[in-house]
Amino acid sequence: MLIDNHNRVLNYLRLAVTDRCNLRCNYCMPSEGINFVKNDQLLSIAELKRVASLSVAQGIDKIRITGGEPFVRKDVMELMRYMSALDGLNDISITTNATLIGPHIDELKALGIKNINVSLDAIDKATFERITRRPHYDTVQENLIRLITEGFNVRINFIVLEGQNEQDILSILEVMRHYPVSVRFLEEMPFNGGSKQFEHIKWNYKAIFEHIKERYPDIKKLVSPITSTSINYQINGHQSTFGIIPSFSRTFCGSCNRLRITATGDIITCLYGKPKANLRDLLRQSSDDEVVKKLLQQTVSNRAKTGFEAQQEHQAVFDSSMTSIGG
Ligand code: SAM
Repeated sequence: MLIDNHNRVLNYLRLAVTDRCNLRCNYCMPSEGINFVKNDQLLSIAELKRVASLSVAQGIDKIRITGGEPFVRKDVMELMRYMSALDGLNDISITTNATLIGPHIDELKALGIKNINVSLDAIDKATFERITRRPHYDTVQENLIRLITEGFNVRINFIVLEGQNEQDILSILEVMRHYPVSVRFLEEMPFNGGSKQFEHIKWNYKAIFEHIKERYPDIKKLVSPITSTSINYQINGHQSTFGIIPSFSRTFCGSCNRLRITATGDIITCLYGKPKANLRDLLRQSSDDEVVKKLLQQTVSNRAKTGFEAQQEHQAVFDSSMTSIGG
């Protein structure tokens, strides 16, 4: 089992399969993109399979596939097939922008992979295309509705961005009220490829809640798992639920059960900290699984207590992008 130096059990791995993305969300990276890595620096599918299997052998029972955009990687379904047959892995989830998932929906369903987080920061087309800098709104809507109606557990991730999409907070709740979906509002984080620095946000979790509460006073708080990062609610009369994630305020570190491995094999023990080790060379040099497992164990045993502590590892500024960290 992976247990950190603060006695937290890590059973949830966020595994990135690429740093590339076909969108250019303005809060994630500059319009010209970032310096994406060369293909040979990415973990191969065989290496990703090995990481998945060794992690599960150490008690990881939930893996979320992320990126970059996972479906820009042509061979990603091979990994999905492998993971769906992995004993001990109880939950396979995906985070996607839903632009390229369409052709894979049937197979994902057949594999029993049902938990899909769709990033969607606007319900208005012009706002969506201004934020993402790409004209893919209709495709995303089509895939989103298909995922919901085909019975996937869909959660929408909506980053609340000052001056950009505040007007869509209530509209997205209104549109989604008829669907069995969870809309989760996230605080903006400073991982945007260095394009903007900030120390405060207007739309923190309290401001988001107050804004929703003003329009919908009849809100019920839902019971959430202890390791949940979202505080979850339901508006009376809505089929959908909503959640708020204090991703910048970081109120949930005490129960954090997550480990991240980036597409290049970096092990990240806190989103706000620096990578703590790299697995890629070890995977390429050694066929001894025990050596790899030992590195994972060692890495988690030196974990910052909170995101605020981890943030001290950065000198003054964050210059990384969520697409490289595996958001
Ligand atoms: N391409 C996939 C997607 O769009 O969901 C997965 C990778 S993306 C980097 C993962 C998540 O990180 C998305 O929900 C995205 O909105 C979020 N994200 C990216 N930059 C962020 C930032 N600066 N603050 C908060 N969330 C961010």
